[in-house]
Amino acid sequence: MGNEFGLADPGRRRILTGMAVGGALALLSPCARAAGAEYPFTLGVASGDPLPDGFVIWTRLAPVSGLAPGRKVAVRWSVAKDEAMRQVVQRGDGVAHGGFAHSVHVEVSGLEPGRPYWYRFEALGAQSPIGRSRTAPAAGSLAPARFGFASCSHLELGYFSAYRHLAAEQVDLVFFLGDYIYENSFAPGSPKIVRAHSVSEASDLAGYRSRYAQYKSDPDLQALHASAPCVATWDDHEVQNDYANRWSQDAGVSPQAFLQRRAGAYQAFYEHMPLRRSSLPRGPNMRVYRRLDFGQLARFHVLDGRQYRSEQPCILANGSHRGHIAAPECADLLDPRRTLLGWEQEAWLRDGLARSASRWNIIAQDLLVAPLLQRAPDTQALGHWTDGWDGYGATRQRMLNAIDQTQARNPVFWGGDIHSFWTTDLHVDSQNPASKVVATEFVGTSVTSDGPPYDAFKAILPLNPHVKFFDSRQRGYVSVTLSEREMETRFQVISERRDPQATVSTLSRFVVEAGRAGAQQV
Ligand code: FE
Ligand code: CA
Repeated sequence: MGNEFGLADPGRRRILTGMAVGGALALLSPCARAAGAEYPFTLGVASGDPLPDGFVIWTRLAPVSGLAPGRKVAVRWSVAKDEAMRQVVQRGDGVAHGGFAHSVHVEVSGLEPGRPYWYRFEALGAQSPIGRSRTAPAAGSLAPARFGFASCSHLELGYFSAYRHLAAEQVDLVFFLGDYIYENSFAPGSPKIVRAHSVSEASDLAGYRSRYAQYKSDPDLQALHASAPCVATWDDHEVQNDYANRWSQDAGVSPQAFLQRRAGAYQAFYEHMPLRRSSLPRGPNMRVYRRLDFGQLARFHVLDGRQYRSEQPCILANGSHRGHIAAPECADLLDPRRTLLGWEQEAWLRDGLARSASRWNIIAQDLLVAPLLQRAPDTQALGHWTDGWDGYGATRQRMLNAIDQTQARNPVFWGGDIHSFWTTDLHVDSQNPASKVVATEFVGTSVTSDGPPYDAFKAILPLNPHVKFFDSRQRGYVSVTLSEREMETRFQVISERRDPQATVSTLSRFVVEAGRAGAQQV
């Protein structure tokens, strides 16, 4: 990675100094520091959750020597109008607390709408790389914009070339739709491992922190964060595979014990993402669902598909809460007393759709929304996957009713989790493919994670006529150009996940016209 994404060359960074005594704040001083100092910004920088007048800037000081866990460290930050950081428009001092893994979250405000800015941190006598961010457009703006979204980056399975190529597109805003880390690891010696996790399974705060530190050290991930602001939500692997609310996938784990694990996982998520104070974790709870307006062009409804769920549906006889294909007769699948989003979030979404004055309403979340009749791999019996929206059909139906009844303009769902590309029509009655189409859905493939078996899924598509496109054979991301009139979506694929220099190409391209739900392949 060179400087093509605006990253400062660490070799050229100015070495400042400042070593605190005792528990006092480390202060920057102009004196040169002794050679051989460890660089504290090896986890990169990021920005996110843009408003018309600002955004959050983030970094985390790496655990270099002398950075005791309890120590507070002074951090200086600056935001400039130019890439070379000559026209600084804002600066300030912050503190990196050991209690939050020496992460830094600064909510910058007072900036101009709809333009790029560059930012940098200084601490422990060193300067961070420079990141590029961007404010959201002014409230009434209908200027076209470009977005990208990605999900499911298991570090052991390959390199993050998808992130590198998305970084090169320099979009206005990047969405991470879940499985940004994987808590689990492959068995040591597995031929699938391209680079091993440093901790085998993350299950407490220390484990999740070390997992994020390893992912954040990846140069392609750093390049993506340095290229554009982001909005992140989570799926299951930020905590544990297939968990739901306070229930582990594993039989015999008490909700109380699982909530303790969740508290560590959520705190680590907060510590490593450019989130606002409104997302500060409180014990095992953390607010991640939120709305962002992008001028009048788009309103993003960012969902949390994990924290508030009813217990997993159709639990197996052995007590396992793992996702599986359940027979359509399982009453849980459509039980109206069950919820995927939680009652509060369901009401919040409906309200946000009803009040939206935006041309496009984009629901950014973690899962495939469309129903999918599929076959159990062992018995070939037809059924539905319990861990996704199909396991919580009543919430999906209430959401589609809300879209229909509120007349929110141009609803489009973005999702991940299923490690494959999908374009679907969402019908107002999700059980009836003859009912009208009320929304369009695009799901992106994984950055590296294994895709589901292509032939087996191809074979069930005739049973699912609302599916307009499916492919699970390649890894990549999704790139979107949005204007008042249309949304253009490109499914981008990389040549080979095991190749750190993988190239990129476009697998497929779709257009959604404003005023008409449903995608057309172009
Ligand atoms: Fe995944
Ligand atoms: Ca997942």
